[in-house]
Amino acid sequence: MKRIISAATALVLTLGLTSCARVDPDKAQESVQVIAMDTAMVISTYGRHSTRAAYASEDCIRALEDVLSRTREDSAVSCLNEAGTLELGELGEELIPLLNAAERYRAETGGAFDITVAPVVSAWGFTAETFRVPGGAELEKLLDLVDGSAVRLEDRTVSLAPGQSIDLGGIAKGYAADRLTDVFRENEVPRALATLGGNVLTWGDRPDGTPWRVGVKDPARPDDQSAFVGILELTNAFAVTSGGYQRYFEENGKTYHHIIDPATGYPADNGLTSVTVVAAADTGEIPGNGTMCDAYSTALFVMGEEEALDFWRERRADFDLVLVTADGRVVVTAGLAGAFAPDEESGYAFETVS
Ligand code: ADP
Ligand code: MG
Repeated sequence: MKRIISAATALVLTLGLTSCARVDPDKAQESVQVIAMDTAMVISTYGRHSTRAAYASEDCIRALEDVLSRTREDSAVSCLNEAGTLELGELGEELIPLLNAAERYRAETGGAFDITVAPVVSAWGFTAETFRVPGGAELEKLLDLVDGSAVRLEDRTVSLAPGQSIDLGGIAKGYAADRLTDVFRENEVPRALATLGGNVLTWGDRPDGTPWRVGVKDPARPDDQSAFVGILELTNAFAVTSGGYQRYFEENGKTYHHIIDPATGYPADNGLTSVTVVAAADTGEIPGNGTMCDAYSTALFVMGEEEALDFWRERRADFDLVLVTADGRVVVTAGLAGAFAPDEESGYAFETVS
């Protein structure tokens, strides 16, 4: 994949050449665009090592995709799904911490997040983009295979129960964002913005010292790139959004999206149209809050408003939420009250909860 230097950077370089002005190395900036994990990603890094950091970010994401992809035949995940068991050598090493984290989030969310939902996701055609509505009996049978607690991780061997497969699509981009914090640290990056689809990492603050501005999309207007329910002002944070508007197909006038309720086998339909989870990005843990936000955004979308808010109240020190409901409300948890600027023109009613 071609590395694309942003027009802004090119302009700065050109100006630098013609005027012979000295560019403060700490103000240097680089951007790369990466198409990976079925997502168009943009990573912008700042500082004297910005170019090295941007390219290292791209390499990091590509290396992760080689391990985690479900659609690449030779990935560690595909090998595991094919054989039902995998010796974690060099290829699959990355899987150990991630599978442990996935199991922790499955248990915490009462199974709303479950990577063994994979056969159901595939039956709906979301893996290979062969969309179809599976029959009730077919789903019943596949639901027997959905049980993350049956995945065994022993020493360096991971095994699935017969017929099971795993799909890390609900957690991989969050894990990638966690890994980017490591790349930024290694390259002494003072500030950066990484947009991995609905997974955003704001590292440090903006060059002018103000927080980064992250739009929360209006799920009712998915095709309008500038339609937001509000803007989050964030410094050193992950903000991860899951919504039914991101990947979906239509059949006989009905819309079916890609977040599956493991309790029913059907796309989750519990009154939410999007869930955004926000948490600190500077804890140094990997897997850390990026992975957590990604797992929780998927799980809380499945849970629905009431259960999601109960879940938040038990763990409110760890993260905050912006929930968009199907009945036209935007619910913001207390920790974000000062960081969320609602778009009053969007037509939603805004509430803060504590
Ligand atoms: P996106 O990948 O669009 O950012 P999510 O993080 O919410 O959105 O992940 C959705 C993906 O996760 C699906 O495409 C599927 O691969 C997988 N998935 C769907 N339902 C679940 C679930 N209940 N638990 C875990 N993974 C899921
Ligand atoms: Mg997710």
